[in-house]
Amino acid sequence: MRNVPLGSSGMNVPVVGIGTMGLGGYFQRDDTNDSEAIIRIQEGIELGATLIDTAEIYGAGHTEELVGRAIKPHREKVVIATKFSPENSSASAVINAVERSLKRLAVDCIDLYQTHWPNPSVPFAETLEALDNLLRQGKIRAVGLSNSSRRQWLLAKNGLPPGSFVSFQQQYNLADRFVETTHLPVCRDEGLALIAYSPLMEGKIAPNDARRCQLDDFARQYEITTVQLVIAWLLRHPEVVVIPKAASARHVQENVAAASLVLNSEVLAKIDQMYRSVIIHVFPRDIKQGDAVGRNVYRTLQEALQNPSNMTPSPREVADELISGEPFKPIKLSRYGNGTKAYSLVEGRLRYWAWVIANGNSRPLPCIIV
Ligand code: NAP
Repeated sequence: MRNVPLGSSGMNVPVVGIGTMGLGGYFQRDDTNDSEAIIRIQEGIELGATLIDTAEIYGAGHTEELVGRAIKPHREKVVIATKFSPENSSASAVINAVERSLKRLAVDCIDLYQTHWPNPSVPFAETLEALDNLLRQGKIRAVGLSNSSRRQWLLAKNGLPPGSFVSFQQQYNLADRFVETTHLPVCRDEGLALIAYSPLMEGKIAPNDARRCQLDDFARQYEITTVQLVIAWLLRHPEVVVIPKAASARHVQENVAAASLVLNSEVLAKIDQMYRSVIIHVFPRDIKQGDAVGRNVYRTLQEALQNPSNMTPSPREVADELISGEPFKPIKLSRYGNGTKAYSLVEGRLRYWAWVIANGNSRPLPCIIV
């Protein structure tokens, strides 16, 4: 399988890796399918998908345990990428978090240690200093940033030993192409890898609209599945690595096989054009909060300001970043009812409230319809 260098760390990762969110439980431990999860990860490794992405929060730690068990016979050939939660960004908390992850993964070094989300209430310089110490101690081999701001990137670039900051992990799929103008140009210029999460839109593959038929047609022309077409399209950028999560052997095989597909430039350009991001501007009052089963959501400005669920970062902290000039990633909406101005919020609740805190209710916010 084609490889992408992880910066100048000397490590290379295959363009198709393995995502593990949901194996062993989403945010709570679920050990009912442990054996299957381990087999899936091992099948992927045997097929060459040797980048395994996980996080301390997945399955409340159980996912890391499963990854540890799965990679045991293959340690030398895998690149383990895990993430620490924003609550663990202080110097002492990062050090404790890495020890817990090392134990659960049953390894003595984590290849790629990533921030999961920024925590603006802890100075990032403090987090970086702790990561620097972990690099020197050999507990981690390289550092990556996930869901990161430009400010974090500049600090990581200058605050870590040369060559040790190697990747971004950001959402990238047919409905979310924000990285193309933000992180990808940086990856190109700095020789970093872009690890694309939720490449299959968490299983939806593509927005559910009229374009889907054309997408399926392209796949049929190549005698491949639509998922493979999407993966091949994402991999048109040489810096991109995808980490689809798959819980069936067929899905794992299909995803890995997509790594070797070459689509002609006309088809790539057509998909690019079909799914170009069309940003519309919608007043906050025209956006219904929608359902968010199992997630903490704030329904009023007052709640968002008070942050009773202790979200990290808080809506106010994200608002401060916006005010300081951080680009605003459009939130995702769907249309509901017949009214042209009736929208339901699909993704980006935190950013929605941050926008309202920063700009009030009278400025429309950038959105995309999915
Ligand atoms: P995803 O990979 O976009 O989609 C996973 C879904 O796609 C699953 O329902 C899976 O079904 C289905 N699928 C996989 N292969 C398929 C195939 N060949 N044909 C049809 N369906 C297929 O979603 P994700 O889990 O959100 O993202 C992938 C990984 O990115 C995560 O596991 C995690 O490691 C990482 N991630 C990181 C962040 C972050 O904040 N850094 C956020 C989200 C995700 P089955 O399970 O039934 O196979």
